[in-house]
Amino acid sequence: MTPFTYARAASVPDALQRAAIAGTKFLGGGTNLVDLMRETVERPTALVDVSGLGAAIVESDDGGLHIAAAARNTAIAEHRAVRERYPMLSRAILAGASAQIRNMATLGGNLLQRTRCTYFFDDEGSRCNKRTPGQGCDAIGGFNRNHAILGASEACIATHPSDMAVALAALDAVVHVSGIGGERMLSINELHRLPGDRPDVETELAPGKLITGVDLPAGSLYARSTYRKVRDRSSYAFALVSVAAALEVSGGVVRDVRIALGGVAPKPWRAWKAEMALRGGPASEEAFLAAIDAELRDAKPLSHNGFKIELARRMVVAVLNELSGVAA
Ligand code: SF4
Repeated sequence: MTPFTYARAASVPDALQRAAIAGTKFLGGGTNLVDLMRETVERPTALVDVSGLGAAIVESDDGGLHIAAAARNTAIAEHRAVRERYPMLSRAILAGASAQIRNMATLGGNLLQRTRCTYFFDDEGSRCNKRTPGQGCDAIGGFNRNHAILGASEACIATHPSDMAVALAALDAVVHVSGIGGERMLSINELHRLPGDRPDVETELAPGKLITGVDLPAGSLYARSTYRKVRDRSSYAFALVSVAAALEVSGGVVRDVRIALGGVAPKPWRAWKAEMALRGGPASEEAFLAAIDAELRDAKPLSHNGFKIELARRMVVAVLNELSGVAA
């Protein structure tokens, strides 16, 4: 591990000031960053611990919910308002990692965690454009069972690992970002970038910017929502495919719907095409199938992960059947 300094931030302005020095990284729960430092994939020269800067989960004036960035995954998943009004978020968090890791991991860190592509972690033995731009990608011709079928590029085919972020993408969460120049807000669906020819640049956050919290929207739509995840083991494994969805049906017609997929793309994949196909149409299994087929039309399977297309189709249809009350 490369030597580094450690300081605990006293406030957001203090954290931002400390992060102005090149080589500094923010530390949340450390459940991803510390692993990467051990593998020498990440080599910060200074860590600024932001885990004490605010963990509140509070009702917003508009009827939504604000979750501060240092809130622990367990606290979010177990919060009454999250369980009752945003069950897909609670279920997504509980589907991730282990209880011990969820007790440590924070909202902000979860959003910024890095891919678990095994070639990315193999600092000494594998080529990786995300770790070393321009080096090449050993996953493309290698073992790519866990990699992306949507949104990948010739430079990188890695998937985003977060379960929580998939639910937040379906929820249209708004992310608060602080910098020396002030605060801005952006949709979580704009936060993560697709790799293109710069897979090392994973988000729209400039260096030194700090996520301070997210807003969840008001509305009854999300109370009828769920998260389903298929993985190789029943616990402590990343998604092969996951689905976060909310559905409102009235008189057999889809009034509103949100769908996001995990395990299939370099970012939480919002299924905009499927949603558009469903709104105002019949809440039937045929319609659900046609909608997800429209979403997956551009999917590009790799040598080992073609099964993800059929898996995603079946999971989306099953989840929408469950939410609509159609016999599954
Ligand atoms: Fe690196 Fe991306 Fe290739 Fe994995 S898929 S080896 S993260 S460039």
